[in-house]
Amino acid sequence: MRLLTTLLIATAFSATFASCGSQKSGAGSADATYACPMHPEVTGKQGDKCPKCGMALTRK
Ligand SMILES: [Zn+2]
Repeated sequence: MRLLTTLLIATAFSATFASCGSQKSGAGSADATYACPMHPEVTGKQGDKCPKCGMALTRK
């Protein structure tokens, strides 16, 4: 009984870690494109600002 519970928890944990890891690798990719929410044609890198309206670029 206790072993089964431990097994279930371990499975849940590994599933959480797996999804977390894949999300991180996706968000951490250096070539993600950022664009202005108001001007989709304006693209750049993380931390860049739109030259037209000054808003921070958001990831697509
Ligand atoms: Zn803009």
